[in-house]
Amino acid sequence: MILKESVLKSKQFFTRLIFPVKCMVCGASLPRDGVYLCEECLPKLYHEAHKSCPACLRAIEFCDCHVVKHAVHMSYIFFYGSEEIKKLFYTLKNTGDRRYFDFVGELLGRTIASRLGFTKETELPFECVTYVPRFPPRKNEIGYDQSKQLAKAVGKYFGIKVLPLLKHTGKAGEQKRLSQFDRRHAVKTRYVINRRLLNDRGKLSQKAVLLIDDITTTGATLNECAMILESFGVKQVYGAVVAKTVNAKRYDYPDAEDLYR
Ligand SMILES: [Zn+2]
Ligand SMILES: [Zn+2]
Repeated sequence: MILKESVLKSKQFFTRLIFPVKCMVCGASLPRDGVYLCEECLPKLYHEAHKSCPACLRAIEFCDCHVVKHAVHMSYIFFYGSEEIKKLFYTLKNTGDRRYFDFVGELLGRTIASRLGFTKETELPFECVTYVPRFPPRKNEIGYDQSKQLAKAVGKYFGIKVLPLLKHTGKAGEQKRLSQFDRRHAVKTRYVINRRLLNDRGKLSQKAVLLIDDITTTGATLNECAMILESFGVKQVYGAVVAKTVNAKRYDYPDAEDLYR
């Protein structure tokens, strides 16, 4: 046991030597592993997680700007938009560091638990974790699947398995160039069920699943994936996303200056 611990400690020591611990937001060096935010950025992110939606003015847990019809409950940590959140995602994407994924995954796990009102000790409302798979060339470009890494971390947090229930068809979804309408329709052909995981009756054996994605823009992708899972026998899909973008359509209030002109 003692030997194991010392081996573990030295492993951590060497990992830190090669990949020093840095704040995910500002890049400042940190004294210890585990929390990847410095003293200055931590309260900023806490504030981000407690912001109300600029479009519907509700707290993030009650914001209904992206209705995911086919998910029983949606959990989000942040709204995507502030510099801090953009940097957090930038660090996650560009380093691909497992420790960062574990950290953000744990944050997501905690958010899900608090939104659904259960603790790690109470029975989980879902049996496994799954994720929205990436477009294959994109995955190769950055070398890993971001949602899968997050799902793994969430699975680790809850102590349940991660299953690749969905597959990407490989059809390009140049999301950024599409209008919101096109985006909703394009999504329909991009995902299919992973047939290897179906039982003899051609259904999934899981009844309740936690579906993870890193970011949502319209909610259409999650909706589509949840619909596919449901059509293969899943009764309840719980969705969880690190950040959601503010619904620009609903966010069309005039600037304060214009109001008083
Ligand atoms: Zn910082
Ligand atoms: Zn809202």
